Amino acid sequence: MSAAIDFVQLDAADFTYGAVDTVAPQVRRIIAHNPSKFTYHGTGTYVVGSGDVAVVDPGPDLDEHRAALDAALRGERVRAILVTHCHADHSPLARWLCAETGAPTIAFGPHLRPGVPEWDIGTDPEGFGVAPANDDPAAGEDTAADGAATEPKMEESTDLDFAPDEEVVTGDVVATGSGWSMTALHTPGHTSNHTCFVLDDGTARTLFTGDHVMGWSTTVVSPPDGDMTAYFESLRVVAGRTDDLAIPTHGAPIPSPSAYVHQLIAHRVERERQIVDAVRRGVVSIPDIVTELYAAVRVELHKPAARSVLSHLVKLVDEGVVGVAGGGRPRLDSVYVGR
Ligand SMILES: [Zn+2]
Repeated sequence: MSAAIDFVQLDAADFTYGAVDTVAPQVRRIIAHNPSKFTYHGTGTYVVGSGDVAVVDPGPDLDEHRAALDAALRGERVRAILVTHCHADHSPLARWLCAETGAPTIAFGPHLRPGVPEWDIGTDPEGFGVAPANDDPAAGEDTAADGAATEPKMEESTDLDFAPDEEVVTGDVVATGSGWSMTALHTPGHTSNHTCFVLDDGTARTLFTGDHVMGWSTTVVSPPDGDMTAYFESLRVVAGRTDDLAIPTHGAPIPSPSAYVHQLIAHRVERERQIVDAVRRGVVSIPDIVTELYAAVRVELHKPAARSVLSHLVKLVDEGVVGVAGGGRPRLDSVYVGR
C-alpha cells in the first residue's frame, strides 16, 4: 500500500455555491458550481484584503460564478488578478475581471513555456479504464451527486488563450493592500506555468497553492506539460517553508502545510518505488502497472492513474532507473525495461 495521507476534506454542508465565506484573516472565498473529478466541489476563487483587493484564480467562465464574483467585489477596488495556472477551471474569468476592473492579470506565463519539451504520449489501449456496463454501483454517482457528465474527462482542459498582462517569477511582489502583501512562488509540475502566491499580513503567512497542493486529493501530473521531476522539486520547496496555512483552489484550507506536504512527498516516493518494483518484476506496460497498483481504485479513474504512472516513468527514464524498449520518449503504450 502507498503511504497514508491525512487528507483535508471540505464538507458539502460547510459552503454554499456563490456565497462569500471568510476562510482566513484577509481571505474570502466564493466557490463556483463546477464540481467534477478534477475540481472536487468546484473552483474556489479568493478575494484577499478589503478596499484594495487581489483576486486569486477567478475561475471558470460560468454566468452564475461571474455574477457571484461581481456581487462579492462590489465596493472593492481590484488591484491584481492572480492566476495560479491556465487550466479552464482557474483562468477564464480573468479576462472578464480585467475588462471590468482594469486590474492586470498576473501569472508565471501562458501555456507551454519555451524550453518545455513536448512529445506524443500515445494512447491508452481500447477499453482500458472503462467500467463494464451495469457492473459498477458507483457508475452513476457523478450525475446523481453533482450534475457532471458521467463519462470522466481524461484531463483538465487548458485555457490556451490565457496570456497574463504581467509575467512574474519567484519572489516578485504581485499585490499589496492595507497591511498585507503577496509574492509569487513558481511551482512547476502540475503544469509548467503553475505558481503559488504567498500572502503575508505581518503576523501569518498563507500560501495559495492552486492545484499544486490540495487537501482532498493528490495532484494530477500529466505529461508532457505536467512534469513529475519538477513536481517533486516544487513539493520540496513548499515542504521546506514555514507557512501557517495553505489554501488550495479546490477544497478546504490546510493547516500545518509543511507536515502535510511531507506526507504527499512520502506518498509519491512510495508510488515511484512500487512502479520500479513492478517493472523489475516484469509488469512492463502502463495498463498492467495501473491494474496492479490501482486495483482498489474505481476503473473509470484508471485513465488519470495511467497519466500519473506515465509521469513517474518519465522521471525514472530521465534518471536512468527505467528504460523504454526500443528507445524514444516514454508513452502510454510503451514497453518499459528495468535497469
Ligand atoms: Zn489544474
